[in-house]
Amino acid sequence: MIEIDGAAGEGGGQILRTALTLAMITGQAIRMVAIRARRPKPGLLRQHLTAVEAATAICRARVEGAAVGSQTLEFHPGPIRGGDYRFAIGTAGSCTLVLQTVLPALWFADGPSTFAVSGGTHNPAAPPADFLRRSWLPVVAAMGVDMELELLRHGFYPAGGGEMLARVRPASPLTPWQAPARAPAGKPRAVAVVAGVPVDVARRELARLQQHLGDMETEVRVLSSREGPGNALLVEIPLSAHGEVFTGLGERGLPAETVADRLARTVRGFLDSDASVGEHLADQLLLPLALAGGVGFTAPVLSSHARTNMAVIQRFLPVEFAVEEREGVVKVGVVRHALTVAGP
Ligand code: ATP
Repeated sequence: MIEIDGAAGEGGGQILRTALTLAMITGQAIRMVAIRARRPKPGLLRQHLTAVEAATAICRARVEGAAVGSQTLEFHPGPIRGGDYRFAIGTAGSCTLVLQTVLPALWFADGPSTFAVSGGTHNPAAPPADFLRRSWLPVVAAMGVDMELELLRHGFYPAGGGEMLARVRPASPLTPWQAPARAPAGKPRAVAVVAGVPVDVARRELARLQQHLGDMETEVRVLSSREGPGNALLVEIPLSAHGEVFTGLGERGLPAETVADRLARTVRGFLDSDASVGEHLADQLLLPLALAGGVGFTAPVLSSHARTNMAVIQRFLPVEFAVEEREGVVKVGVVRHALTVAGP
């Protein structure tokens, strides 16, 4: 049994999610303590609990400690089974983080699957649905993953009520992936989404973004107010292997112009570097790359989130991460050694 300390490094939910995914894939049992110990509300929240419940269903695991607030968890996985799965987080907890926990396991299932999850789809501090579809999915597809992701309904904090659906066909073995050098592949595109929020907010956000970032394709997307209230401002920079998606979320009392100013600063930071992927995609590619046999990318920075994730991955898989800072970017290499544990 692998013992995992949830207070190590960042001490957040990613330690749990990565450990669950790799427990399922390698068949190793885990005992985790101090879950999310460095977060203001430690222990399992609804999002993490849903990930545990979904992982339990998918590999018929034996579990102890699966309850809201729990800071310890034992998880004994069985074989990964394809099937039709459906989960409701029940709050605006992030659907995409639940998906990123279970989808890698379903890549190695004994048959095809569908996985539907309801909750938040555009949350602070989590990848929005568009990021999963346009940034993460094309890269894992380039590693051989055979999967579609749909956004069925938007869900914003705090109301939630969004839904996403994944269709997955097993695709092992995956192939290693090296990010191509940065090459723009078209005009940047900006979408302002409003649900139960005046359309003028979307127009002001797009106008301000263009003042900062220049010519871009723009779209105002007005959703039914039943999907709100919510407002997301998304910028996609098309690159040769994927679209790098950046997100700003509107908040009550926060002027539309401020949402656009902040987002433009983030996008500008990426454009001014020549990194092949952005900061968030960097931490989300470590696990797929480790499963696919390695190689790497460059990123503008390497977050403590990414470093923590590396440490967890190394508890399960025979991989080494080489990190080198060079000319304003961080070069990350993933080297996979011969298999020493059960799994892909
Ligand atoms: P928890 O809050 O569950 O304890 P955590 O603290 O471990 O989770 P975070 O550090 O909040 O998790 O990050 C969760 C994930 O969301 C990371 O993979 C991060 O890259 C990603 N993420 C955060 N913001 C964005 C964004 N704007 N676009 C894409 N991905 C994002």
